[in-house]
Amino acid sequence: VFVVFEGGEGAGKSTQVTALAETLREQGYEVVVTREPGATEVGARIRSLVLGGSAGGSGPSPRAEALLYAADRAHHVATVVRPALARGAVVISDRYVDSSLAYQGAGRTLPVDEVSWLSSWATGGLKPDLVVLLDVDPAVGLTRAMARSGAADRLESESVAFHERVRYAFLDLAAGDPKRYLVLDAAQPLEALRVAIADRMAQLIAE
Ligand code: C5P
Repeated sequence: VFVVFEGGEGAGKSTQVTALAETLREQGYEVVVTREPGATEVGARIRSLVLGGSAGGSGPSPRAEALLYAADRAHHVATVVRPALARGAVVISDRYVDSSLAYQGAGRTLPVDEVSWLSSWATGGLKPDLVVLLDVDPAVGLTRAMARSGAADRLESESVAFHERVRYAFLDLAAGDPKRYLVLDAAQPLEALRVAIADRMAQLIAE
């Protein structure tokens, strides 16, 4: 079973990823928790290329950025996700293809169908069984993300309009394939989110 968490900055993905992994482990499942970008050694180098930009220095151009995320994903799927799924583990990834459609597509305004094609080439067409979308108003999420991360400069460098485009791209993807998505308002209490996600997961495993 392959589960992906998506959402904008400060949506609380990593908290819920950790909680779901703990619940599933208590139930006896082997769980592999992973993320994009940067889950592998190759990926960590790509992550620092796309996100680590020296202060004041400019990052990669939009198409270069899209290719770097795709390269991270190709390696991640080949070396972490597919092997874990093949041995029957539950894989939980913090971000996957939808992040590219939202950030590189809608955010950077690259043609979404091209970013989609690139992602499916990178993954060999591997799709998640469930995408949990933690939906957050960028005004709230950005404040949360900036308070905690050392990445305030990078987050501030994108306009609120950029983050709004990202948010609505995630919501559109979910609306287009409702059976595969669980959309939750990330402003809810953590425990309510945890329960909703665990319930949906139980349903998925029972199918
Ligand atoms: O989820 P995490 O905070 O680790 O993501 C790091 C950053 O990478 C996010 O702030 C997001 O802006 C960026 N990102 C992106 N395109 C992706 C994946 C992540 O721009 N495909």
